[in-house]
Amino acid sequence: MKILFTEDRKNQAAIEKVAKLSNSIYSQKGEGPFYHIHTFGCQMNDHDSERMAALLELMGYEYTEDETRASLILLNTCAIREHAEERVYGFIGRLKSLKENDLIIGVCGCMVQQKHVLDKIKKSYPYVDMVFGTHNYYQLPIYLLKALEGEKSISVLEDSPRIVEELPAIRASKISAFVNIMEGCNNFCTYCVVPYTRGREKSRLPEDIIKEVKGLVEEGTREITLLGQNVNSYGRGLEEEVDFPELLNRLNEIECLYRIRFMTSHPKDLSDRLIEAMKLEKMAPSFHLPVQSGSTRVLKMMNRKYTREDYLDKVYKLRQALPHIGLTTDIIVGFPGEELEDLEATISLIEEVGYDSAFTFIYSKRLGTPAAGYEDKLDYEEKHRRFDRMLGKLNEIVIEKNHSRLGQVFEVLVEEETEAGIYQGRTPQGFLVRFPGSREDLGQLRDVKITRTKNFSLEGEICH
Ligand code: SF4
Repeated sequence: MKILFTEDRKNQAAIEKVAKLSNSIYSQKGEGPFYHIHTFGCQMNDHDSERMAALLELMGYEYTEDETRASLILLNTCAIREHAEERVYGFIGRLKSLKENDLIIGVCGCMVQQKHVLDKIKKSYPYVDMVFGTHNYYQLPIYLLKALEGEKSISVLEDSPRIVEELPAIRASKISAFVNIMEGCNNFCTYCVVPYTRGREKSRLPEDIIKEVKGLVEEGTREITLLGQNVNSYGRGLEEEVDFPELLNRLNEIECLYRIRFMTSHPKDLSDRLIEAMKLEKMAPSFHLPVQSGSTRVLKMMNRKYTREDYLDKVYKLRQALPHIGLTTDIIVGFPGEELEDLEATISLIEEVGYDSAFTFIYSKRLGTPAAGYEDKLDYEEKHRRFDRMLGKLNEIVIEKNHSRLGQVFEVLVEEETEAGIYQGRTPQGFLVRFPGSREDLGQLRDVKITRTKNFSLEGEICH
């Protein structure tokens, strides 16, 4: 079921009231109101923040980098690791000193979907004005109106069967944009909180996605990254029979769109049809395929539903179809019950696949997940030792591959100027390259020759 944001009368009324109210307060000051959003976590959170920024700007707020100037600070939080949670508490604690200047503080995102977090915020940080979750962040205008009228809001829904369409967004990049195609996850990997914080899988209708992408392309977007916790299962539950490869086929038809990327994919759902769709003209030959562990025994404990052999078979098929594909992954070391031979299996898988890069983590216990109840015999030092071993091997491979790109020419989509006269963009495989350029290059595909390689970055020159 979907609802149109533009038809949500309560929200629309709140937008108008906040705009009037803030205008009358801040016109006396001669500037503002300013907002600041601090985003933790993944691209889904980045994109939710882009949407909340657009809502705030609809209400007359302007962005500021400087927290001390802000009349509203939003923390869009992440629940994936304990460390991220601790950082959020530290951040909220720091904001107390700014609270004296009528500052409104909001905490939203995945972290507040957990009861223990809500309890802690209520008890330890009573000066927080708004707390809302991942399923109702679009109602920010309603909560902000209450806060301006001196009323607190705590509104966290467990799940929502609805997808909200036509939400505005202020995107970090005009040239390369995120597009959500689904929300939630049904997989219940034993270490992961996402199915509890983002709810069950819900796919957007293909026509809504295509309409959004066409609109973006009209405004100058040339590359899209389709987002979902498991894009490979896109389409389940929709009335029309449409799966992820079919969606890619339809998006491939959009004129003036140069490249399509996506993340994240679950290896168990990577089908031959998707591998075939990767050959479409606009598909970037780049694949993020989280393996998590190279040991079938650990994968079973993680409830990943594939074996080491299944995973390697899919990598083989991807490379058969697209020999120059860029491959990246996620790896967890120190999962409860991991033995040394499991770590060896992960290291040998890293060698066998030869990743271009990876997000690597030490296992972080998350309350409410099955793995939080598993016996964990490894101490902190041993986990770090294992992590360093794995990372040493991974970096060896990544660095060697990066240096091997010296002298090669890649077609780069020029995305932004990072400093005066220096531009950056990505190769089809997803490697970031910096090179001298000009404003006319922005949004264009340019052949760039790699003239200098560092361990983890590339520099080049446009071929004229
Ligand atoms: S697939 Fe597993 S790791 Fe990924 S979001 Fe779902 S439960 Fe979490």
